[in-house]
Amino acid sequence: MASSEQHICTICNDDGVSNLAVSWCTECEVFLCGDCEKPHSKSRLSRNHKTMSAEDYQKLPTFIQEISSKCRDHKKKFELYCSYHVCPCCVQCVTDKHKKCQEMKTLSGVLQQVKSSASVQLLEKI
Ligand SMILES: [Zn+2]
Ligand SMILES: [Zn+2]
Ligand SMILES: [Zn+2]
Ligand SMILES: [Zn+2]
Repeated sequence: MASSEQHICTICNDDGVSNLAVSWCTECEVFLCGDCEKPHSKSRLSRNHKTMSAEDYQKLPTFIQEISSKCRDHKKKFELYCSYHVCPCCVQCVTDKHKKCQEMKTLSGVLQQVKSSASVQLLEKI
């Protein structure tokens, strides 16, 4: 992959600290640095969460990486995925650009698929 973009820990970033992320939690959809990863993997609420390395995250399809961001045109959260245009869309995009698109999927459903396939890939590596 051409981009070697570094990701910043989402949790630390909320506190105004820019720590480099080492992993990404597929459940919380947040980046974790080394310091935040430990409590996350120990906490009763999140210890069963599947995480992948920030490196593996880079290899995910771009639209998955865009899910956690907002629609640039409408500043709304992406909620749907158009398989015809191969792009994530917010509710406004759907009304604007994807009215005739038949194959709109919910992002959570698509993400679920990617999550399970990502974990299969991880398992294969091991
Ligand atoms: Zn952190
Ligand atoms: Zn998590
Ligand atoms: Zn939009
Ligand atoms: Zn479309």
